Amino acid sequence: MRPRLQSGACVRPLSFTVRSPAPKPMRYWFSLGRSRWFGARLHVHLSVVILTVVVALAAVESPAFAAVTLLSFLGVVLLHEWGHAAVAHHFGYAVEGIWLAAIHGRCEYQAPETQWERSVIAWGGVAAQLAVAVPIIALDSVWHRSLGIFGPVVLILGYYSWLVAMFNLLPLKGLDGPLAWRIIPLLRKRIEARRVVRNALGRRRDR
Ligand SMILES: [Zn+2]
Repeated sequence: MRPRLQSGACVRPLSFTVRSPAPKPMRYWFSLGRSRWFGARLHVHLSVVILTVVVALAAVESPAFAAVTLLSFLGVVLLHEWGHAAVAHHFGYAVEGIWLAAIHGRCEYQAPETQWERSVIAWGGVAAQLAVAVPIIALDSVWHRSLGIFGPVVLILGYYSWLVAMFNLLPLKGLDGPLAWRIIPLLRKRIEARRVVRNALGRRRDR
């Protein structure tokens, strides 16, 4: 079985390699069944399992710290893909699957009908990340005591996630940027169309 690459599929890795995260063979992906998130099927890559084992072995003395670090890293990817899924679902599109690998992910949803929807869905991932990262960074700037076990959460779900979100907005193929920034000319068109309608209605009323 191969991941269905529909035209509306989000193929935006969070890694620094700008390539599709799910190469053709499905050998290294495991389906965890349908998740509660919009009924999307959740797939986990072997790299997640390997990473979990490596982290567990490397941090025998502080398992809680290691677990928090690992979950925060995976949390960044899941949050991003969940953001795409949430917006696609909001527009009424079926979310087919969420793919989680060690440092990148993917969300597949029904192909959107309009450019506007495609662009807003592209913003969904970054928006979800920033919705969590910005409050964390703001809290961290006023909290001057030790973070303890929450250190990795602040570092990863705050600062690292913010950096990843900014990276994702670069206008490079394979990232969210090219689709996301299309929203500016689309927004201009919408405003212009609204102005034309308003003027036309105003003229009718004046008659
Ligand atoms: Zn994305």
